[in-house]
Amino acid sequence: MSHPYFGHYPEQVQQQVESLLQQQRLGQFFIKRYPHSHDIKTDKQLYNYIERLRQEYMKNSPRVHQAAYVKRHNMALNALGTHTYKTTQHGGRHKTSHQIHIEATLRHAPEPILRALVVHELAHFKEKHHNKAFYNLCQHMEPHYHQLELELRLFLLLCESEGNIYLPD
Ligand SMILES: [Zn+2]
Repeated sequence: MSHPYFGHYPEQVQQQVESLLQQQRLGQFFIKRYPHSHDIKTDKQLYNYIERLRQEYMKNSPRVHQAAYVKRHNMALNALGTHTYKTTQHGGRHKTSHQIHIEATLRHAPEPILRALVVHELAHFKEKHHNKAFYNLCQHMEPHYHQLELELRLFLLLCESEGNIYLPD
């Protein structure tokens, strides 16, 4: 039986995940790979972080209007980050403003894990669906996107099983 987060990964990956989970070695796996959490703690810092990435790779897209960490009850993968936008009229001109919300758990996480999620949400500015163009855009912003998305899933699993080891004590 495969875990729902990993259903579309190769059998070999699923088995590795399963054994890390059963031996309770996910925490060990993470701390070895990423000893520290990032320092992007406030909404303002998150906003600046996202805007820097956008300006570097998606210059022509409208700037982010707002970014915030939000606490959700259900940490489902598809709700970890949300991107919403509203279009308003200004003297006959349409103006779109983008907002990005990031699950508060990601406030205490390795930087590459946060980056994977931010890159994902930024790519949705241009591509609504998870199609080839979408993933190409993700990889343009982060060449290791696929590996990091897998690690983002592992991070979720870590939080659900052993707990978030990056929380300050
Ligand atoms: Zn998405």
